[in-house]
Amino acid sequence: MQYLKNYIDGDYIDPIENDWLDNYNPSNGEVYSKIAKSKKADVENAYRAAAKAFPEWSNTTIDERSKILIRIADLIEQNLDTLAAAESKDNGKPLSLAKAVDIPRASSNFRFFGNAITQFASEAHESVGMNTMNYTLRQPIGVVGCISPWNLPLYLFTWKIAPAIAAGNCVVAKPSEVTPLTAFLLGEILTQAGLPKGVLNIVHGTGPETGQAIVEHPQIKAISFTGGTATGAHIARTAAPMFKKLSLELGGKNPNLIFADCDYDKMLSVTLKSSFANQGQICLCGSRIYIEASIFEKFKKDFVAKVSELKVGNPKDAKTNIGALVSKSHLEKVESYIKIAQEEGGVILFGGNRVEVKNLENGYYLQPTIIEIKDNNCRVNQEEIFGPVVTLMPFETEAEALAMANDVKYGLSATLWTNNLNRTMRLSKKLEAGIVWVNTWLNRDLRTPFGGVKESGVGREGGFEALKFFTEAKNVCITYEN
Ligand code: NAD
Repeated sequence: MQYLKNYIDGDYIDPIENDWLDNYNPSNGEVYSKIAKSKKADVENAYRAAAKAFPEWSNTTIDERSKILIRIADLIEQNLDTLAAAESKDNGKPLSLAKAVDIPRASSNFRFFGNAITQFASEAHESVGMNTMNYTLRQPIGVVGCISPWNLPLYLFTWKIAPAIAAGNCVVAKPSEVTPLTAFLLGEILTQAGLPKGVLNIVHGTGPETGQAIVEHPQIKAISFTGGTATGAHIARTAAPMFKKLSLELGGKNPNLIFADCDYDKMLSVTLKSSFANQGQICLCGSRIYIEASIFEKFKKDFVAKVSELKVGNPKDAKTNIGALVSKSHLEKVESYIKIAQEEGGVILFGGNRVEVKNLENGYYLQPTIIEIKDNNCRVNQEEIFGPVVTLMPFETEAEALAMANDVKYGLSATLWTNNLNRTMRLSKKLEAGIVWVNTWLNRDLRTPFGGVKESGVGREGGFEALKFFTEAKNVCITYEN
């Protein structure tokens, strides 16, 4: 049995109370490793290591910091096979996806911020006629906390850590207890890359115990969190009275608006991905699909045909399109929504059932599921399911489509399929979302701001937005004599 220890002050160490959690392989339902169940005292140790490392790290030259981040990126790339296999085993996602997306992106995160920090400059404002010069210092905050979810484990963990350390902070980070393996393996890479001890400390454990201890820690001055909206609200309640800086990337229920004038074939193949990639467990998946009435029946027929070709199976199998859901409890949650959909009058056009995979009978497999709904406000269309389930609904006019798209508490992303430029311009402005994709999906340039509006979060990650979050701006105002 493998023991996933904490990585504190450059070393792997047991949790102080020697308490461990079970870690499951979703493809077969078996416990295959134990995770440190860290307590407040472990977080305190991680904090002390980070605080000790901060004075030197924050004074390390930009060139040196950049080199270390790029070495980490290179090492992640060199360990692609091992890390991808670990991610797939821990999460249930197809190995091919982990290899093509998760791990390359984790490497890009370090490479991108290793380069971005060399271009991050502060502003100067000359108060002309007043003999005054202002400049802005952007100083690292100190020790910061990074907390990430299970759906894109190393991808999202590194998306926070890389800008935090690039900007000169030291970090106490917690990956999801559901998928801790690649974060655990990252420790070795950090050591090999020569990251000074204590700059990045990784503590494992549950949200209410370990995560809460990070958020509550009086000296951890900023929290970057990605996860569910209810958890984000709880974190905000804890952190706000302590005046911590907060970045919250939360849930989504993203609309796809499909107009008859779109490039139909491209739309169909991308919609297949935006619906079911990573078993539908991406916060950016388009789970509400609205189709212009004139092509509704055709879309329905073609989409069902395409979805029926998707292969649900062993994540290691190269032919698998859809692997296992992340956990038994998550599978049961997703199934409960399929039941709710039926009670609400939704019609299951495809899927809805578990899949038994040969030799992996205890794995958490579910068919990709398409539900036709009549009411935009039904629960299955309003609440985040975060699984391989999408709803279909026709619309008659652009105004109706927009109103339905915005009539939800979330506002993370929206995807628009049309070749009408005027419509594109109008809707892009009016859609309530942090990201609007037009004739594409999950097309990411890491320089762009990333985040949501409404209950999808507060703040932006990506590019200089992330470096701004992880620094405090200080205005220095100097007057001089003529
Ligand atoms: P979650 O909120 O249950 O957990 C996320 C992380 O927070 C985990 O590490 C967990 O241990 C920790 N946590 C839980 N309670 C905590 C507490 N009280 N204090 C501190 N930390 C705590 O979310 P999840 O189930 O792991 O992930 C799925 C959710 O994440 C979905 O809602 C999805 O939309 C969202 N998500 C959002 C984005 C985005 O960029 N907006 C990206 C990916 C996932």
